[in-house]
Amino acid sequence: MSRNPRYDILFEPVRIGPVTAPNRFYQTPHALGTGNTMPHTRAAMREVRAEGGWGVVNTGYCSIHPSSDDTPLPYCRLWDDEDIKVHALMVDAVHKHGALAGVELWHGGSGVANNLTRATPVSASGMPRHCTYPGWMGLQNPRSMDRKDIRELRCWYVDAAQRAKSAGFDIVYIYAGMGYGPYEFLLPWINQRTDEYGGSLENRVRLLREILEAAKDAIGPTCAVAVRFSSDELLDVPGRDHPSQAHEIVALLAETPDLWDVKSSDWTVETASARFSGEGAQEPFNSFVKPLTSKPVVGVGRFTSPDEMVRQVRSGILDLIGAARPSIADPFLPKKIDEGREDEIRECIGCNICVSAYHDGVPVRCTQNPTMGEEWRRGWHPERIPIGDPNKSVLVVGAGPAGLECARALGQRGFKVTLAEARDELGGRVTLESTLPGLATWARVRDYRAHIMQTMANVDIYRDSRLTAQDVLDFGCDYAVISTGASWTRKILGVRGFPTDELDGNAVYTPDDILNGAEVESPVLIYDFDHYYMGSCLAERLRRQGHEVTIVTPANAVSAWTFMNNELTNIRERMIECGVDIVLEHFVTDFRDGDAHLTSVYRGAEATARECGSIVVVGSRVPNDALLRDLDADAQRRADSGITAVRSIGDCRSPGAIVHAVHSGHECARTIDGKAPSSASWERAAL
Ligand code: ADP
Ligand code: SF4
Repeated sequence: MSRNPRYDILFEPVRIGPVTAPNRFYQTPHALGTGNTMPHTRAAMREVRAEGGWGVVNTGYCSIHPSSDDTPLPYCRLWDDEDIKVHALMVDAVHKHGALAGVELWHGGSGVANNLTRATPVSASGMPRHCTYPGWMGLQNPRSMDRKDIRELRCWYVDAAQRAKSAGFDIVYIYAGMGYGPYEFLLPWINQRTDEYGGSLENRVRLLREILEAAKDAIGPTCAVAVRFSSDELLDVPGRDHPSQAHEIVALLAETPDLWDVKSSDWTVETASARFSGEGAQEPFNSFVKPLTSKPVVGVGRFTSPDEMVRQVRSGILDLIGAARPSIADPFLPKKIDEGREDEIRECIGCNICVSAYHDGVPVRCTQNPTMGEEWRRGWHPERIPIGDPNKSVLVVGAGPAGLECARALGQRGFKVTLAEARDELGGRVTLESTLPGLATWARVRDYRAHIMQTMANVDIYRDSRLTAQDVLDFGCDYAVISTGASWTRKILGVRGFPTDELDGNAVYTPDDILNGAEVESPVLIYDFDHYYMGSCLAERLRRQGHEVTIVTPANAVSAWTFMNNELTNIRERMIECGVDIVLEHFVTDFRDGDAHLTSVYRGAEATARECGSIVVVGSRVPNDALLRDLDADAQRRADSGITAVRSIGDCRSPGAIVHAVHSGHECARTIDGKAPSSASWERAAL
């Protein structure tokens, strides 16, 4: 197929200082979870984007000096010449596919604790960073930089830029956003200096200007020097000659960098989940830039629609379509548009599991793209897969995320695939959960796979087909895959902290009940010890239906785990906005005669009674593995049926998040006719 001419504009080259991007698809710097310790993993994770058609591929934040140490978070670095070869590996991999490689030089200022290096943190005015997450609280104040420190900082940038050039990078960023180093000098409430680097806007901009100019002097003839700037905070500060100080900064430095990359400062806003922001949500923070500079402008916005990308370019907002998450979910997004296959794009669902991987300190993983992070360790490719024996048949039972991904990948491998689903709709939990407030994009997990399988002659899908063990044995296939999901239970936490005792009674519900349309009676108490999205999503839905809703949780925050995927604050705000009552740090220990008994998690507290019409227990799930157990029960019958292997995947194997189900389905499809991954493939991760 050929490209739709409507999208030709996206494939125009863009000049960035001395280098030229082959098209407008630009993988912006984003954390990858590999740091310098996994150079092969990192190179492979970046390379696949270049192969998929992204014209520019950048590193994540790259420290220029030991005084900018973000341990234990995984960041990369260019501290000395030893670090060059680690980066060269990625640069070469990206160049192989004709893309430009960029590096984001970063000094964290007061935003780092220097846990590993024990260097004294430095900042514009020695002001400590206020944060509420213990992992990010440094116990040591930063030191206010004197003139010598500033001179040294400039030198560190120049040294790192020269090393970047030696590694072969085409674009070298100076990071002046998100509360880090040079950005702190720009903000009047942080920069309290009385010398030539503080006070007036011209003075506050001086450090960033000097760094940009020094970097350009050092590497300018061959490498582009880009700036990444956070605009939102300064957009709120009135300017002298322009509407805001953000405008003034861009106007003052307009032609100094070769590229402007502009976004908001708070990561939970910039990388908000789909529950809290839509495609193009960064437009208010970057649309003011282009009229102030002749240099190209890039910005992100979880863009997956080529029409929206074209609009961004045609309406003069962006020159380059920046993407982190869409390039993770589908590294081949540009190629698919180029080849007229935009209906095959595996669209990011905005769940932010990728963000949580970074917080976990592991290579980024993705709900939609199970191969992300497995490119080096297991040799998985997002588009290619080894062909299997086309005479072998596989029956997949259950079409949730696990079954769908397994059937799709098996179909891609060329097996004869039959997918049977009990309900009349495919998708399992994502079909139900995508009806929750803000989760509509989650249906993309189903839609992408269902669409691709429609085009496969070797895949048959049967809806309304609840299979028994006898049905599976009678079917006559070589392999059977059981992906029958999991169910929520009514169990509450027992005294030892494990879910053991069930609440019973007509007024006790699970999320499955609510998602399947059960009518509840107000006031509703949601007892959430799952700590992810379900409790707060149900609260929001029930509240919008007019119920009085209280969330009780033993944690010290609602949806406590969602700190990991940047949703925590947004969820709390949403609960306040909806009028959901919150009781933190309490167990529900009983529910009798319309009263829920709440007990503090702290020792010695008496239970208090709280009147409620119904309770929804959002706690634990158990596998729906009856079919699997039936099949396992009689080995002889199974052997007689000709089935050589029965595998269980997804929630039916081990209840988890959707990312786990998709990965498990994919892994099963790749290994069904072979061996499970050897331990050697795990060890490769360390290289
Ligand atoms: P996962 O996340 O592991 O994919 P889901 O719960 O989303 O799990 O999906 C499981 C799917 O399996 C559901 O759509 C359910 O209707 C289906 N299912 C459960 N039991 C059977 C069965 N015996 N035969 C066919 N489909 C089944
Ligand atoms: Fe998008 Fe979720 Fe994948 Fe991140 S993990 S890239 S948000 S689909």
